[in-house]
Amino acid sequence: MIVVMKEGATPADVEQVVALLKGRGLGVHVSEGAERTVVGIIGPKEKVLELPIESLPSVEKVVPVSYPFKLASRAFHPSDTKIQVGDHVVGGDELTIIAGPCSVESREQILEIARFVRQAGGHMLRGGAFKPRSSPYSFQGLGETGLKYLAEAREATGLPVVSEVMDVESLPLMLQYVDVLQIGARNMQNFPLLKAVGKANKPVLLKRGLSATIEEWLMSAEYILAGGNSQVILCERGIRTFETYTRNTLDLNAVPVVQHLSHLPVIVDPSHGVGKWRYVPAMSRAAVAAGAHGLIVEIHPNPAEALSDGQQSLTLEHFAAMVEDVRRVFQATRASGEVAYAQPR
Ligand code: PEP
Ligand code: MN
Repeated sequence: MIVVMKEGATPADVEQVVALLKGRGLGVHVSEGAERTVVGIIGPKEKVLELPIESLPSVEKVVPVSYPFKLASRAFHPSDTKIQVGDHVVGGDELTIIAGPCSVESREQILEIARFVRQAGGHMLRGGAFKPRSSPYSFQGLGETGLKYLAEAREATGLPVVSEVMDVESLPLMLQYVDVLQIGARNMQNFPLLKAVGKANKPVLLKRGLSATIEEWLMSAEYILAGGNSQVILCERGIRTFETYTRNTLDLNAVPVVQHLSHLPVIVDPSHGVGKWRYVPAMSRAAVAAGAHGLIVEIHPNPAEALSDGQQSLTLEHFAAMVEDVRRVFQATRASGEVAYAQPR
């Protein structure tokens, strides 16, 4: 439940509400908005209803939060969360561009790509070292060697690196090498892994599960936030539908929905979303127009030879052209105070 204070309520008024709630053993989270203060309550509704909060003159109303996610909800944290990664801020005024190969394949490959991403104005380098492949016979990634190449590419370019952590056991190793921990779609509901990254002191890029509802996705974010890690970046990467011509159906509905429901930044992965490189630029532009804070895109110098996801990887030249386009879309669609729509009412 949340307590909405009246406009003009003083800090002492807020303190009175907080003291009442804490006195009953309830958890409290105060958010000061531009016009009014909201006090979020963590604990059973029955305990809140026993208290005479609504009759206090400084209180506008006490409203139930109907969502099962709390820390991830806008009601608890009305302003947008911004996440610092190196010298870039995700969820701020600049569009975030993350790019790289599906898998790190060799030292030369990742260094060449990293230099190109940097030159094209990208902010982070992606690359899988431990790959969740549908077939046990497919390339599984270079493992720690791949992580070492990623770290070398970071040294060479200054780009922070994003890579998938597949299980709890490999988390300590990943923490030595990566700047952002990616949780893959297949692991979105690996609750032990969510709890483990919830204790880590690094940003987490949480992909939406293949068949996850938005609510399930936000509940997974809630696991990480509840563990104490507030640096969660959501990533829409397409969901399973009856359509087979594309690999997945990129659910761009999720972008404004999540921005309404949550304060967490949301980025889009058009590569896995459509599964065919030809459609990636169009869906990248659409994602940015829909309000996404950024993109994560698969690229490869020679997609036909890629060891994974070559069919959906852009060439370096196509990627550079696409970045120009999405920047223009970003400029053209952010002047209207769009973010204001996200505020709950
Ligand atoms: C990937 O990023 O290469 C990947 C495996 O993504 P997802 O978990 O979204 O399928
Ligand atoms: Mn991939």
